[in-house]
Amino acid sequence: MSIQVFGQPVSRGVAIGRAVLVASSRVDVAHYFIGTEQVEAEVGRLREARDAVAAELVALKSEVPEEAHAELVALLDVHLMLLHDEMLAEATKQWIVERHYNAEWAMSAQLEVIARQFDEMEDDYLRERKADLEQVVERLLRALARQASGMPPEAGAARDFAGEDPLILVASDIAPADMLQFKRSVFTGFVTDVGGRTSHTAIVARSMDIPAVVGAREASQLVRQDDWLIVDGDAGVLIVNPSPIVLEEYRFRQRQLELERAKLDRLRHTPSVTLDGQPVELLANIELPTDAGAAMAAGAVGVGLFRSEFLFMGREGRLPDEEEQFQAYRRVVEAMGGLPVTIRTVDVGADKPLDRMSAHELRHEHTLNPALGLRAIRWSLSEPEMFGQQLRAILRASAYGKVRILVPMVAHRAEALQVRQALDRARAQLAQSGQPYADVELGAMIEIPAAALIMPTLIRHFDFVSIGTNDLIQYTLAIDRADESVAHLYDPWHPAVLQLIAQTIARANEAGRPVSVCGEMAGDPAFTELLLAMGLRSFSMHPSQVAAIKQRVIRSDARALATQLPAVLAAEVPQEAGQSLLRTRVH
Ligand code: PEP
Ligand code: MG
Repeated sequence: MSIQVFGQPVSRGVAIGRAVLVASSRVDVAHYFIGTEQVEAEVGRLREARDAVAAELVALKSEVPEEAHAELVALLDVHLMLLHDEMLAEATKQWIVERHYNAEWAMSAQLEVIARQFDEMEDDYLRERKADLEQVVERLLRALARQASGMPPEAGAARDFAGEDPLILVASDIAPADMLQFKRSVFTGFVTDVGGRTSHTAIVARSMDIPAVVGAREASQLVRQDDWLIVDGDAGVLIVNPSPIVLEEYRFRQRQLELERAKLDRLRHTPSVTLDGQPVELLANIELPTDAGAAMAAGAVGVGLFRSEFLFMGREGRLPDEEEQFQAYRRVVEAMGGLPVTIRTVDVGADKPLDRMSAHELRHEHTLNPALGLRAIRWSLSEPEMFGQQLRAILRASAYGKVRILVPMVAHRAEALQVRQALDRARAQLAQSGQPYADVELGAMIEIPAAALIMPTLIRHFDFVSIGTNDLIQYTLAIDRADESVAHLYDPWHPAVLQLIAQTIARANEAGRPVSVCGEMAGDPAFTELLLAMGLRSFSMHPSQVAAIKQRVIRSDARALATQLPAVLAAEVPQEAGQSLLRTRVH
């Protein structure tokens, strides 16, 4: 039977493929295809891991003290039995042999299948054995991790067996750090139960430019391993086991979207200038140094936001030192070939925890509100040693090209002064050790309403500003951007949000300071005319959005749009006013 599940649209396009269900706690397991010639060795890895775990369990059994409860021995026997059970051993092997999954992926795929069966059992005792099964799989995964050969193949390794279907990842939640490992992965679509349109998981999915739906509530419960799925990233809909007619309709849409995409790609070399001759800078948002290639390919004229925190995440506490960071920043600067690179200082916290704990777990485990806590610049200023390392690393990269530093979550004048001091200290340290660096401009992210309201003060202490609409909306409307239950209230068209954005752009323009928008609004064509009307001439977005935004820019008359702005801002329902008044100005 075909089922439809509604969620939040995250990343455009249509994906059609088979479901790969991944438990949230298992998304950090490597997922890659192996070649035909590696199948035997991979099955061998699995066998070795099983033997190692069996030896571990037998040893544990022999160590159980005599006086210990017999239950412990019985439990270890259950684990041994599960380890050798056909359902786990044989079926996992089949994922490797038939699908060419790597051993870890095969193991977690099979765990998912069996766990479902346990969930459906009537008998309480048997249902509870699921926890034992998870423990056994956990041991097996640890054993696999200890094997040296368990390394993913180099990026781009060929999927060299015929007939495989495209795959769509379905999980309850995926932490932003875990999304990163899927960047060049085998999946052609994503679905998660939780998350809002601008949650960081959604942002990373969008940067990968593959269709995704988040906040699809029960999706991971409804979908079964291997089900056929359609992910409609434009409408935010997941269709499970579609009928042949629906499938054909979506295949047709998929082809049309590809044609549209190809048309847009032709704008790559077209200058980004409005009809009335105003140049508009289109910059790229990136998460990893390797994304710089996509930024260049899209025709971006620089990096407007490098979310450096992704270098810091999912590292089990071992943060990148100055040298490692310097190499990463330098790679971006060199890849951008002289174009400006804006590096944002680390913005961890809230839905971007440092370790692999998912945002979901984080929300439930912490009673305090992490979005209002020690995140972004607050965290950096509380860790002067780490902050100094990051500033020195960025300054050193500035010797290789034009670099700008962007500070997240600024709200106080004192923060501006403290950052300037830290920067002066970092410069002095480099000068003392004879390390070269060039001039860097310092910018503030305007993403807390208080910062927008004290623009006249902040602008005196920063060389440029960049508006983070994702957080600005979250904090203005008191809506957790990652919480799907209030996603319908997350409204970029809210009059209060529009006033803050318009004011910030106007104040910066009056002061002659560069201003850009680097939140998701900048890459959404629904807002291009509005932002142009507000006087914005610099947009920073996912590389995949550059062409679509350029198309809007070159069809707009910025001066004519500006005359409509007061009416839009004064309207009771700005979205309606904007759509009618601003559309008339687009040619
Ligand atoms: C924003 O808040 O708009 C922004 C660009 O930063 P991030 O999404 O990383 O919080
Ligand atoms: Mg932000």
